[in-house]
Amino acid sequence: MSSSTSSEYADVIIVGAGFAGLGMGTRLARENTHSFLILERATEVGGTWRDNTYPGVACDVPSQLYSFSFRPKPDWSRVFAPGAEIAGYLRECARSEGLLPCIRFSTELLEARWDDRQGLWRLTTSGGDYTARVLVTAAGRLSEPRLPEVPGLGSFAGDTFHTAAWRHDVSLEGRRVGVVGTGASAVQLVPAVAEQAAELVVFQRSAPYIVPRGDRAYTDDEKRGFRDHPDTLAAARSEYFWAAEEGFAQKLDGSASARRHRDLALGHLQAQVEDPILRSAVTPDYQIGCKRVLFSNDYYPALARPNVTLEPSPVASVDESRVRSAGGAEFDLDVLIMATGFHTTQLPFASRIVGRNTGADGLGETLADHWSEGMTAFASTVVYGFPNLFIIDGPNASLGHNSAITMIETQIDYIAGALAFGTLAAQGGHPEVLEVSATAEAEYTAELDADSSSTVWLTGGCRSWYLDSRSGRQTLLWPGPAHTFQAKNGVFDPAPFR
Ligand code: NAP
Repeated sequence: MSSSTSSEYADVIIVGAGFAGLGMGTRLARENTHSFLILERATEVGGTWRDNTYPGVACDVPSQLYSFSFRPKPDWSRVFAPGAEIAGYLRECARSEGLLPCIRFSTELLEARWDDRQGLWRLTTSGGDYTARVLVTAAGRLSEPRLPEVPGLGSFAGDTFHTAAWRHDVSLEGRRVGVVGTGASAVQLVPAVAEQAAELVVFQRSAPYIVPRGDRAYTDDEKRGFRDHPDTLAAARSEYFWAAEEGFAQKLDGSASARRHRDLALGHLQAQVEDPILRSAVTPDYQIGCKRVLFSNDYYPALARPNVTLEPSPVASVDESRVRSAGGAEFDLDVLIMATGFHTTQLPFASRIVGRNTGADGLGETLADHWSEGMTAFASTVVYGFPNLFIIDGPNASLGHNSAITMIETQIDYIAGALAFGTLAAQGGHPEVLEVSATAEAEYTAELDADSSSTVWLTGGCRSWYLDSRSGRQTLLWPGPAHTFQAKNGVFDPAPFR
C-alpha cells in the first residue's frame, strides 16, 4: 500500500544494518507478520564492525555474549573476537536470515517526516522516497566519527585519518606517527602501530584505567564441544552475562567493588610500567569507572618502547608537519591518527526526524529539537511527539559493564510487543498510531536521572562521552544492571500510550 506512486512502502522501515538493524530485521523476518525494509547508507552490513578495521580491533566483551542469543556461534576463534570475525558474523546473519533482499544499500536517510493525516512516516533518502507506518532507528551511537577542533589541523601536510576510517593504503612502516586519544580504540591499536612506526607519539588528554585482558584462542576441542552440545554454549553465555552483571557495583560511588577494581587496575599498571615518570603520567586522576575501563596486556609495554613517546597533554595546534601539544611539546610527524571517538550524545540522525508537534521556529519539531538538553525517551525507546517511532541504541540504552547486544535484544522484544499490539498489528486499512504520553517520558527520565546521580559517571570527576555537555545529564548508559533493563523494558505495556 502506498499513498504516493513514486515511494516504496513497508509496514516497518529500519534505518541501519548493524547489530541493531539486523537483529530487528531478523525478528521481523522470522515472525513474518509485517513487511519491512532496512535502509543502509553504506554498501555492506555490519555497522561499527564494518567501519572499524584498525590494527588490533577486537571486542572487549566475550564473543559468546557479544552475539545474538538467537544466533549462537560455536566456533568463535577467541574469547574476545577480532573485529573482522564479528563483521563476518553479521554478514552471515544477513545472508542466512534472508535479509539481503530487504536491505536498500547506498540509501542514506535525509529526512523522515511524520504525516499526521495519513498516520505514516514519509522518508526522503539518497536512494528515493519511502513510506512506512513504523520507523525504527538503528543507526548506532558509534557511527559518526568525532574530530577535535584543533587549529591548523587542515594544514597537516602528512596523512591524517580517524580510527573508524582506517587508511590501509597508508604505510606506517618507518614513519613518524601520532595517535591522538587514549580510549578503547587507541589502546587496541597503539601496540600494533608501535611495531611498525619509526617513532610514535601518543597524545593523552586523560589517562584511562586499564585492567588485564584474559584473551585466548578457543581450542578445536572446545569449538567441537560447543557445536555438539549447544547447552554448554548457552551456559557459557549465561555465565559471562551474570559475571559481568556483578561489575555494575563498580560503578557505584564509594563501593567496595569499585575500590577492588581500582586496585586491580593500579596493580596492573604498577606491574607493567617500571619508569616512575611514565607511571605517574599514565595514572588516572579521577575515579575508576567514570569512563569506560579498558582491557589490555600490551598497551603499557608498548608505551615503554624506546620508539614511543607518551605526551601527557592534548594536541593544541598543527602547522603543516609540526604538531604542538597543550603542554608545549612539538613533534614533526608524517601521519596523524585521530582516535578521538564518536558523536554519542547528539546523534546526527536526530536532526533529520520531524515529528507531529510544531517546534519553537513554527516548523515541525525535530528529534534534535526535542533533545535540545539531552536525549530522553520512555522505555529508552519511544518519544512523545514522534508516533510510531522506535529508537534502538538511543537514550540510556547502553552499558558500561555488560554486552550491548543484550540491550538491543531487550529493545527488539519491546518493539515486537508494540507491533503485535492491537492497532499496529492490523495491516492495511486505517492507519493507527502509538504515541507515548509526555508525562510517561518525563517520569521515566526523572527516575533514570535519580538513579544516575549516585554513579561514578556523574561523581567520578572525569569528562566522558556518557554526559551531555549541554545539560550535564548522563544520557547514554542504563543506570543499573542489564537484567533490570530487561525486567523494566522487555515487555511492551500499552498503558503509557495515547
Ligand atoms: P573514546 O573512548 O571516546 O576516546 C576518545 C579519546 O580521544 C579519549 O581518550 C579522549 O580524551 C581523546 N580526545 C578527544 N579529543 C581530544 C583532543 N582534542 N586531544 C587529545 N585527545 C582527545 O573513543 P574510542 O576509543 O574510539 O572508543 C569509543 C567507544 O567505542 C568505546 O568507549 C567503546 O564503547 C567502543 N569501543 C569498544 C571496543 C571494544 O573492544 N568493545 C573497542 C573500541 C571501541 P578524554 O579521555 O580526555 O576525553
